[in-house]
Amino acid sequence: MSFKCPYCDFSALSKKVLEQHISEVHKEELEKKKEEKKKPKGKTKGDFVAKISNNYDWVKVVCFDNEVFEGRITQYSLYQIELKTKNGHVWIYKHAIKYILPIKGKKT
Ligand SMILES: [Zn+2]
Repeated sequence: MSFKCPYCDFSALSKKVLEQHISEVHKEELEKKKEEKKKPKGKTKGDFVAKISNNYDWVKVVCFDNEVFEGRITQYSLYQIELKTKNGHVWIYKHAIKYILPIKGKKT
């Protein structure tokens, strides 16, 4: 039984030798693979909301009409975000948002 290199025609009799071969000859491919894994899967506009809601517990949302909401992002879709404020839940259309200001970071 032999171990075949996934990148070239090389084959080795032991897994260890193959791993060594890959780490020496195909270093670049390996690093590329790692980087691809790191990339987030989503590519929608909602990504920034996901990032914010993952990292911040409390945010300030400022809308184009200068209305301000403060709260926690509890849900979001492609077009709206749901904010839990002190006065209850608010759905805000993303296109109405001027900017989101993170206030309190999440404890890790
Ligand atoms: Zn190879």
